[in-house]
Order: sequence, then structure tokens, then C-alpha cells
Amino acid sequence: MQRLRTIAQWRDYAQRQRDAGRSVGLVPTMGALHAGHTSLFDEAKSRGDVVLVTIFVNPRQFGDPTDLGNYPRTPEVDHRLALQHGVDCLVEPTLEEMWPDYPQSTSTTVTVHGVGDLLEGAGRPGHFDGVASVVAKLFAVSGACRAYFGEKDYQQIAVVRQMVRDLALPVEVVGCPIVRDHDGLALSSRNLLLSEPARDQARALSRALFRVTDSNLYASEMRRVMRALMQDAGVQVAYADVVDPVTLVPARDDQGGEFRALVAGIVDGIRLIDNAPVFVSPRRD
Ligand code: AMP
Repeated sequence: MQRLRTIAQWRDYAQRQRDAGRSVGLVPTMGALHAGHTSLFDEAKSRGDVVLVTIFVNPRQFGDPTDLGNYPRTPEVDHRLALQHGVDCLVEPTLEEMWPDYPQSTSTTVTVHGVGDLLEGAGRPGHFDGVASVVAKLFAVSGACRAYFGEKDYQQIAVVRQMVRDLALPVEVVGCPIVRDHDGLALSSRNLLLSEPARDQARALSRALFRVTDSNLYASEMRRVMRALMQDAGVQVAYADVVDPVTLVPARDDQGGEFRALVAGIVDGIRLIDNAPVFVSPRRD
């Protein structure tokens, strides 16, 4: 496994793969790797891509400096997991290379309006600007590639797909299913920050989603059920919504069919998100 730190080496590595007729599979991460991340490495590998993983804790997508300071970092585990899962190249770019002006803001920011303004975008102003800007840079350096993202961050995929479409970037975005713990909790690097009781409360997010999955409810009933279940467990609910799976526009009660339920909540000061596909029944009265 190659380990690179500079943009020049990384750009050159990706170009050499393409020159040799190999396809590049990019997996952007912020480290503190777990089985959710490695499922993306495995998917990229299974499609025959040269797997290029980036680890960069991007300060521009954190609104809260405490959240950034507390973000878990597990470099030894990351290295071991990358090796075990056949990652070909692990890139850990420095902050100086990624954002040379930091902590000043850069002059260039990528903003994805519409899908980026809703849900997480509304609750965390600037978050998706940080995400879109860093992903645009990862794509610019990596060049033509397939890029693998987890549905755990469902809205993030929608934002990235919109950006790729609007800017005609030479990237195929591949969404991969959510990996969960045995108790249903979606794997997340932030789970490392949860105390035992908080982890128990956190399970309410997936329980809320599973409760409505095959419930035959209409959209606003689903929202009510999910919110109540999370609140009863002591979760501070940021949102519990049912939306169009592509545009993320909230479902109306007279609509039925395949939608996406998304929840976000704060447990013990840690913000967690989760989502699942749901089949919504239209309201009949
Ligand atoms: P992060 O390191 O949290 O920025 O995540 C890097 C990538 O891994 C993103 O595309 C995430 O959506 C994905 N990911 C994180 N957790 C999971 C999970 N539990 N299942 C599937 N993908 C995940």
C-alpha cells in the first residue's frame, strides 16, 4: 500500500493508474475508520478499481470548533484496516496543502443550493459548503474516477451528485448501503464519543426509522411517530422527516410510494444522523 501526503504525488499516482488502463476508485473519509468505511473499500475493490482512500478531517465542514477538536482520530487502526481491505493508496493530505489559507476562509467556495439548504444544511449552516468545497478539491486532484459514498450520509450524496452534474465533473458517484451495528445503530466515527447510556439512547434513531418502515402510515404520521419515539428516549430531535429520495423535498400527505426517512438528533452533546427507505401510504380522507 502506497502512503502519500502531497497533492502532487496523489495527482501523479491517479494519473499513472489511468495511463496504465486502470480505473481509479476514490473513497473520501475523515478517518477513525470502521466497517462502514471498509464496506466502501470492498465495493470499490469488487468493481476492479484501484482503491485510493483519502483521510482528511476537513475543518471547513465543522461549524463548531469543539466538535472539530473532539473528532476522533485513530491513525494506527486506520492504517491496519486500509491494509487488511486491500487499499492500494492511502492519502493523508496536510491541512497546509488542502487549505493553505486556513484558518482564514478561502476565496473559493462551492455552494450547492436546493438539496444543500434543507435538513442538515438548515441545522448546520455552512456545513455543505465545506463538504462540497473539499469534495470538489478531492475530485480535482484525483481526476476521472468512481467515487464511493455511504448512504449513511444520504444528503451528502445528493449534494455531491448535484455538484457533479452541475459542473460536469468526470466522476461517477456510487452510493453504498448503511452498515449497522448488531443493535441497529448506524456505524459512525462519532459513536466512539458516546458513553454507554448515551449509546443506548442513540439506538432510538434507528428504532424510529424501523418503526415506520413498513407501517402503512402517511408522511406526517411517520414524522410524528419518529419524533415521539426519539424524544421519549431522551434524544434532542433536530429533525425527523420524510422526503423525496432525489430532491429531498418533504413528502405531502396525499403522496404515496417510495420516499426516504431521515432523522437527526443530539445525544449527550453528540449530533447523530440516520436514514432509511420508507414506503409511504397516501392519506385517504
Ligand atoms: P466520514 O469519515 O464520516 O466522513 O465518512 C466517509 C464515508 O464513509 C462517507 O461516504 C460516509 O457516508 C461513509 N460511511 C460512514 N459511516 C458509514 C456506515 N455506517 N455505512 C456506510 N457508509 C458509511
